[in-house]
Parts: sequence; structure tokens; C-alpha cells
Amino acid sequence: MREIYKRKYFVILILLFITPLMASFECRNAESRAPDKDKQTGSTVKGDTSKIPPGLKRLLSAYPDFLERADENHLYWKDGTSMIYDDGVQKTFEEKLDNADLEDMMFQEYTPGPDWDEPPAENFEPGRMRCDAFFSKMYGTTKSEVQANLVTITWSPSGDRVQVSSVNGVDSKMKEVAKELLSLEEKYLKYVKKTAGTFNYRKIAGTNRMSTHSYGISIDINTAYSDYWQWDKSMTYKNRIPMAVVEVFERHGFIWGGKWYHYDTMHFEYRPELLN
Ligand SMILES: [Zn+2]
Repeated sequence: MREIYKRKYFVILILLFITPLMASFECRNAESRAPDKDKQTGSTVKGDTSKIPPGLKRLLSAYPDFLERADENHLYWKDGTSMIYDDGVQKTFEEKLDNADLEDMMFQEYTPGPDWDEPPAENFEPGRMRCDAFFSKMYGTTKSEVQANLVTITWSPSGDRVQVSSVNGVDSKMKEVAKELLSLEEKYLKYVKKTAGTFNYRKIAGTNRMSTHSYGISIDINTAYSDYWQWDKSMTYKNRIPMAVVEVFERHGFIWGGKWYHYDTMHFEYRPELLN
């Protein structure tokens, strides 16, 4: 009898170990070799374009250097691979955060400009769910791959030298942001005079997910005027960053962590697919 119990216990242990591994495979495994392009027409969009989900169209137009075409549920990359848009798996909020597919990533609408619902509703945080496989494919899958794409630019409001990815022209967009911030009224400069960092290859504190700082597409502005949900366990929304500053970033393709329920008001990241 005791042997049987031991065996059962062993099987349960194995299952406990394997199940999360299988789940984490979905997004990474979403990538596969794409079938040949429609040879008859050479069209970049297969079949009926009206069936392509809006989120998929937005991804396609946001990353022209990498993406070639789409169909109802696939994104086709210029390197001949493809990714599934919607994996069809029902997920809880936490599961979406940990293992977002492209559809989960595009599900919540980011509202640019000053007319957004402040404070954000519970778990409303467009852009916070990310399909890691999508970003690592463009910006680098390892620290050294990401580093090979980094360039050093001057963050002109402070004069700091910071490292940013040159992929998708993020470096030149970041420079444009800095230049435009300098043209704002003097009273806005204190928010951006210091930066709390750009590239930093790391996981998000307390999670297994890569921070977008790992890809060199994010910047944290002056922490002296910033609010972050992890600093305040009461989850009461707070913000001191003026919209004039936020709008400059948004105009150049960067979303703001201040529009998230899990707010991070120092944080901006390059996510043109949510702003087009
Ligand atoms: Zn950040």
C-alpha cells in the first residue's frame, strides 16, 4: 500500500512540475514556419482582409521593418516565420500577464491624450500584457543580442548618456521626445531632468516576466515626482506627472505606465501598436 501512495505522490509531483512548463510554452511556441506567400497574387494579406482582427492590423502597421502580412489569426514575419494571434485559451488576469498571446496584448485599448478614464478601472492596463516572444524576436532573445542593438544617446533634458535600442528606430524617436520636452515650458523640465534608467536586462520585480527595460525600449523619468503601485500596497492611484509631458512621449510612439491600474508613472515604453 505504501508503495502505491509513494507512486501517486511521485506522479502528482511530476504533473505539478510539467503543467506550468506546458503553459509557458504557448506564446513561445506560437512561432512557426509560415506557408509560402500567395503565389498567384503576391498579396501581403491572404484571403478576406475584413476578417483580420483590428489588433492584428495595428501590429502590422506599427512594425513594418519586421512584419509582412496577416490573415484571420496569424502574423507573418519577413523572415518567413509566423505567430498565432489568438491562442484560444481562456486565461485569468494573472495568466494573461504571465503568458499573453498577441490578442491578449491588444485586447485593452490605450487612450492617448488627456481624455482617458482616470483613475484606471481595476486591472485595466493597456500595454502591460505583453507577448515576450514578439518583443524578443525584434529586440533580442538574450542580453548580448539586445546589447548588440543598443546605441548610446544623450537625454538632452539632463545631459545623461543613456542606452536605447536602434531597432525600429527607437533611438531616434527617444531623441525626438527629448528635444520636444526641452521646448516645453520651464515648469515641466523638473520631471524629466533626471532619468532613472533605460536599458536594464532584468525581470519585473517579483515576477518571471521580462521588463521592457530589458529590450532597450523604455525609460523611467524622475523618481522624485513618480508614483508606483509597488511602493504603495494600498493600490490607491496617484500621479504627479503632467499630461503635457505624457503627450510628448505618446506623440512619438511611447505609452505611459501612469494609465495602468498597476500604475508606474515614471515609466514609458515604445509601443506604437497601441497608439496608431
Ligand atoms: Zn520602467
